[in-house]
Amino acid sequence: MNATGRHQVPVPPGGMIGILGGGQLGRMLALAAARLGLKTHIYSPEKDAPAFQVCDAHTVGRFDDADALARFAAGCDVVTFEFENVPADAVANMVPNAGTLRITQDRFEEKSFVTSLGLGTAPFRKVDAPVEGSGILKTRRMGYDGKGQARVSGRREIAEALERFRNAPSILEGYIDFAFEASVIAVRGGDGSFAVYDPPENAHENHILRRSTVPSRLTPAQCDEAKAIAKKIADALDYVGVLAVELFVLKDGALLVNEIAPRVHNSGHWTIDACLVSQFENHIRAVAGWKLGDPSRHSDAVMENIIGEEARDWQRLAARGGALHLYGKSEIRPGRKMGHVTFLSRKKS
Ligand code: AMP
Repeated sequence: MNATGRHQVPVPPGGMIGILGGGQLGRMLALAAARLGLKTHIYSPEKDAPAFQVCDAHTVGRFDDADALARFAAGCDVVTFEFENVPADAVANMVPNAGTLRITQDRFEEKSFVTSLGLGTAPFRKVDAPVEGSGILKTRRMGYDGKGQARVSGRREIAEALERFRNAPSILEGYIDFAFEASVIAVRGGDGSFAVYDPPENAHENHILRRSTVPSRLTPAQCDEAKAIAKKIADALDYVGVLAVELFVLKDGALLVNEIAPRVHNSGHWTIDACLVSQFENHIRAVAGWKLGDPSRHSDAVMENIIGEEARDWQRLAARGGALHLYGKSEIRPGRKMGHVTFLSRKKS
């Protein structure tokens, strides 16, 4: 591997892909790699990480253990990540896209970057101490699935939320009364090639993705705009691999960028069953230096997450039809993503 984590030549079948993070995303990346004849080595701090069940090698290690990370990387042809809160500095010389990690790990940097490209976001400002204002207070770092977020109105509520966040540097975002949410899943190759999936519409419950539906309610012009937004972001970051852009679709039709995820994304799981080449395979192709695969969708799809206790009902889920994916997690916890199921129907548009 060279110093930037980028390969000059494609990693051939039989080569080893390192994946930082061992959750369901790592698991589905490993399965996609296996189909291409590539091996995977998963690195995760969790002893029973779901991805360990389907890979060729695994290491239990902390993300701040530089020696363990270096030993892991030395045995891989290329390293990528499925979890974007890995310490950017620790992995900077190991993975492509370390610069992207630095930007997207900090909501203030991320939104500043997006607006610098001339793209719209919710209004936002830095908050380090109680101020007047209202909207959604979010910690700048380490937030996901609604963690580190609070709906606030007025100085007192902002002060209380900051206290709950242990005074972590935060941003205050204007509350957006959107029509619906959508996302774009795109993939960029090391040679600048680009492919993008049809943008799904996403429904959340308790800040967790419940359902992705494709085709969405986006008009063809909005679909084109959404894809162009993803391309602009991926090009500006000189990004390699799959990247997701979460969007708010306003009632007047405007699209605002909510968040960039520099990885495969839950709202793209339907691509496994409804597309010629899934987001997982395309991410592996991109980081391994292969030509990107065809993202065309052959079916309409609805993907539903299986969350927490719902997984106990696996027999009913298995009997319901649809393509069932269970992540092999040993412990059920409230809000934990345990699996998903994708329902396909004949493509209408
Ligand atoms: P995030 O972690 O920033 O992706 O936020 C999780 C979810 O919270 C989003 O998918 C929205 O459903 C909701 N949300 C986040 N920010 C806003 C906002 N500024 N206005 C309205 N809803 C929001």
